[in-house]
Order: sequence, then C-alpha cells, then structure tokens
Amino acid sequence: MSISVKKFGVLPSGEEISLYCIENEKKAYIEVMDFGAILRVAKMPDQDQNLRDVVLGYDTLEQYLDNGCFFGATVGRSGNRIEGSKFSINGEVYHLTPNEKENNLHSGPNGFEKKVWEAHMCQETNTVTFSRVSPDGENGFPGEFQISVSYTLTEKNEIDIHYEGVSSKDTIANMTNHSYFNLSGHDSGSIYHTKLQILADRFTPVGSNGESIPTGEEAPVENTPMDFSKAKEMGQDIEQSYEQLILGNGYDHNYVLRDYVPGKVRTIAYAENDASGITMEVESDTPCVQLYTANFVDGEKGKEGAVYNRREAFCLETQFAPNSINQPNFVSPVLKAQEKYDSRTVYRFGVK
Ligand code: BGC
Repeated sequence: MSISVKKFGVLPSGEEISLYCIENEKKAYIEVMDFGAILRVAKMPDQDQNLRDVVLGYDTLEQYLDNGCFFGATVGRSGNRIEGSKFSINGEVYHLTPNEKENNLHSGPNGFEKKVWEAHMCQETNTVTFSRVSPDGENGFPGEFQISVSYTLTEKNEIDIHYEGVSSKDTIANMTNHSYFNLSGHDSGSIYHTKLQILADRFTPVGSNGESIPTGEEAPVENTPMDFSKAKEMGQDIEQSYEQLILGNGYDHNYVLRDYVPGKVRTIAYAENDASGITMEVESDTPCVQLYTANFVDGEKGKEGAVYNRREAFCLETQFAPNSINQPNFVSPVLKAQEKYDSRTVYRFGVK
C-alpha cells in the first residue's frame, strides 16, 4: 500500500491544490484532493482483473471550481434540502443562503466542496484525512464546526469514509459524499442495467410543487416503482408514469433505511453490474440514503474526453432525511454543542 502526492492545479487565490493517490496491494487505486475533500478517481478491478474507474469526475481544477453536479464532493454541513432556507434551534431562527429557488441545497453556494482542506496522510493505514474549521455563521449555520473527513482505501477494496466533528453551538451535522458511480466505468453510458438493492421499506415522498422537499410522510415502497427492497435493474421502472418519478425526473428520493441505531454501521445497499462484474456494497450508520440517478446531468465534459449525460451514473448519498431539521417526524440532524459527531460510510467493491 502507498500514498503519493501530485500537483493538480493552482487556485485563483494562488493556493496549490494536490491530488493524494492511494493504492492498495490489489492495485485498486483512488485519488482524493484537498480542494473540496473530493473523491476524483476510483479504479477497481473488474471480472477480468482490469481496472475500471467507477466514479464520474473532471480532469482539471477549473472544472471543480464550478462542479454544479457535485461530482465526488464532500457535502456539508447539511446535505440535501432545507425548505425556505431557514430553521430554528433552541428557539433561535437561522437563515441560510438560498441556492435553489427559496430553498437551500447541500448547504448553499460555496459550500464544503469548494473549500481548501488541510491534508494529513497516514501511510500505515492508507488514509488521507482532510480537516477544516467552518466558522460560526458560515452560510448561516450556527457554531464553529471543526470537521474532518478521512478516506481509507483498505485491502478489501473498500473506500471507507469517516467524518468526525465538534461544534461550539448546537448545529446541523449531516455530512455526505456525493460520488456518482457507474460500475462498468465512468464513461460507459446508461445505468439502466445496473442492479440495485436498498435495504429500506419506506421512502419519503416529495411535495407536488416539484421542489423535492419531502411532505413529512413515510410511504411504503411495496408495489410501487420506488421499491428497491429486492435487487432490480435501475431502468426497470424508471420511465413509469408515476407521480413521484415525474416530480423527481427519475429517482431523486430519500429512503428510510432499516435497522437504524445511532452509531451502528450496517449494510444499507448493494449494486452490481453484469458487463464488468463489479459489485458495490454500501455500509453506513445514517438513518437514510438519497438515491439520485443523475437526472440533471447533461452533456457534462468529464475525465479523459468522456461526456456524461442523464442517468449514466447513480449516487447513494447517506444522510439524515431532507429538511429533517424542520420536520418533527424525521430523525433530527442536530448535533449538540461540544458533542462528538462521528459518522461512517463504506463503499466496498468486489466482483460477482
Ligand atoms: C439532489 C439532486 C441534485 C443533485 C446535484 C442530489 O443530492 O437530490 O436533486 O440535482 O444532488 O446537486
């Protein structure tokens, strides 16, 4: 195992950005960077022992300055949407910067995925840890939040993502990773034939205004196109004329995962691709996961000349439910002042 560092580019501010290249004994390889604590590359062996890069990304730092799709991004401190960009904690009302109509998506403009993080390498464990201090009031969030995200590439071909943080005031802590996966390769087109299972019996339907804010209800997936409780191809039902799929432009929904116990990591999803034989098992301690089938990706110029279009990748964003801060029915994303935030998500790759 090894970690090496290479230069990626220079920001307009003059700061140098580096790529941290992590390899294991099996030759699996990932690249993460100190701009946005972003996962840029994930090369995993396929059924013929050839490496395939299974995440979407860009070739240049300039493209990551824009990154409207959040490729590989560390999203924080609040993944997904907050209705009306406001919430209250302990009776105090906080206003965030809106960036999707009146709502706040992924914490607002210039979020954690646009910040320069401090990097620390641990060669013994094949880990790169990125840390930063998000000031009190950043984008409207209360409390100074000291946050780190560690990426470890294990010998089991796992990308193990570990978030640790502490805040000076009660705040929202709902970190996620926004990687877009395509298990036959980032440049290989449709995900319709990739099979997916999500260990959830319920999802949170979104309201009819098309703003993708949950109504607060938890609905059974059974007998609906939303059902992934048994493995099925992602394309099987996606084109159905079903209200939730029309509102989301495909799958862009939050699933309420089984067996939620705070702090307990369990398997939450499984995906496999016949063309490459590559499988991906996801483990997490979060109550929910967002399935997003890249419905809004359109002609995006990606790595090595690839052009990415809609439904050519999928995200499994482990999280607290969207707008859970304003929705008493959902598990609360509040982190108490001085208490430790600790959350893990593992993407484990294999072959069938
Ligand atoms: C959201 C999508 C959004 C995407 C990129 C996902 O988490 O649910 O609606 O388009 O992120 O921002």
